[in-house]
Amino acid sequence: MSGQGHSHRHHDREHHHDHGHEHGHGHHHDHDEPYVSLRARALELLLVEKGLITSEAIDRIVSTYEHDIGPMVGARVVARAWTDPEFKARLLADGTTAVRDELGLVGAPLMVLENTPDTHHMVVCTLCSCYPWHVLGLPPRWYKDHAYRSRAVIEPRAVLRELGLELGPEVRVEVWDSSADLRYLVLPERPAGTEGWTEEQLAAIVTRDAMIGVARVRLPADVPVAAGGGEDGGAGGAD
Ligand code: FE
Repeated sequence: MSGQGHSHRHHDREHHHDHGHEHGHGHHHDHDEPYVSLRARALELLLVEKGLITSEAIDRIVSTYEHDIGPMVGARVVARAWTDPEFKARLLADGTTAVRDELGLVGAPLMVLENTPDTHHMVVCTLCSCYPWHVLGLPPRWYKDHAYRSRAVIEPRAVLRELGLELGPEVRVEVWDSSADLRYLVLPERPAGTEGWTEEQLAAIVTRDAMIGVARVRLPADVPVAAGGGEDGGAGGAD
């Protein structure tokens, strides 16, 4: 993999926490949600008052992130990577360019981390809540919690276990600390039993948590294992 030079990576055996100053947030205090909300509200009022933007426009942007840009966008990226090896290679080499040029997704610089049977990647923002909004929408509540932000680096396996993901000792865990300069998207392992599935069928089973690296992608219990796996391929036909 290339382009890892500026990443903040923590191996699970390393207990030190050397958070670079290049994080770019400029706050030293612990996360203070009400303060951030107040500032956002103050900025909104100022922008509206100056006639630079309307409250309706701001509502529209918030609504876009809440409803239109959800984890389904990231799921499409994952499904395409699973079905198109050349796209996957480009995505891993330069996530920012791959999602911009091929899917029209523009946002903060993005690095894609591929989970394999022996390496599991997990994403956190230890300082606040940096998150790849343009591909995952709004971060989940727990992503911003102090407990997750501090413990993900110190005891990732315990955190994953509590979130329902038990990793064997043979699996190396790598924790990636998001920053204003670089966001991460986990490319989960494609589950067995999805051979012959279409990109659309695959995208439907990719979850937000799997793309943050705190879950695996699983087959829904109600999908017949044989569906879509026919020798003639592509028939799918579960519906
Ligand atoms: Fe952050």
